[in-house]
Amino acid sequence: MRTRGLEAKVLRLMNQANRDFNMITEGDRIMVALSGGKDSYGLMWGLTQMRARAPFRFDLVAFHLDQGQPGYDGSPMRRHMEKLEAEFGIPWEIETQDTYTRVVDITEAGKSYCSLCSRFRRAILYKAATRHGCNKVALGHHRDDLIETLMLNLFFAGSIKAMPPRLLNDAGTHEVMRPLAYVPESHMEELSIAHGFEIMPCTLCGSQESQRKEVKKLLAELSVKNPHLKGNLLNALRNVQPSQLADSDLHPFYGEVNGPDDLKPMAEVDLHPQDADEAACAPASPSVHSSPLLSIL
Ligand code: SF4
Repeated sequence: MRTRGLEAKVLRLMNQANRDFNMITEGDRIMVALSGGKDSYGLMWGLTQMRARAPFRFDLVAFHLDQGQPGYDGSPMRRHMEKLEAEFGIPWEIETQDTYTRVVDITEAGKSYCSLCSRFRRAILYKAATRHGCNKVALGHHRDDLIETLMLNLFFAGSIKAMPPRLLNDAGTHEVMRPLAYVPESHMEELSIAHGFEIMPCTLCGSQESQRKEVKKLLAELSVKNPHLKGNLLNALRNVQPSQLADSDLHPFYGEVNGPDDLKPMAEVDLHPQDADEAACAPASPSVHSSPLLSIL
């Protein structure tokens, strides 16, 4: 894809997500978390373009955390931050905190570093956002991150959840947004190459995150037969039908449906093991296998 066309595509998807989830509003001051990876570099590029075209004012602040990883070289990030300041007047900060040692010390052998590392990073990020007067924090998760997280939770955690495009943090102090929620990872890869971003790989997790790699591989394989698969999975996140699931917090299984006597409490239903087996083998409802109309991408 030629650079202009690629940039237009990424911006169109970012604008669409911004509209759908009402992410950026007038007067926002948004801290953009730059990790040194392709996605956050691309996110910052996209936000500078959106700001230049926005009919109202909002501010951006660039933030990067030096986590004290062995062999860390922050010079590419410093160069990038200085360029952002010179070209777009964006204030920036590189904070140094040795989360590396804490993560390695605390993480149980064989477990992934990423979950603890992310929690440390997020806490530091919120503090930095407060320091810089930012009400929102933008993260570089893209479409593939969202749907891979959905699959990881389904396969390994027994839960239907992903990454929301917009969320208030637990403390209620900052709003987190993911403006790349609709952008495929392949676009971010191409954008990174086209812009010559200087990637700073994470040396902490290395060969970890194997479950995510497995899910990524599975989705790539399935997408060969069904090119709309990833778009459909993204659409599924926007098209949840609680009554077709089994979560009584979301659907009133005990309440009145067609009349007060229509439903028995689940505990009273006598489901014989044989019935349970049959239920497990029952054909699923018709799937949305490959309808191009259902894919927004
Ligand atoms: S990829 Fe590296 S920096 Fe990112 S959360 Fe995992 S361990 Fe931390």
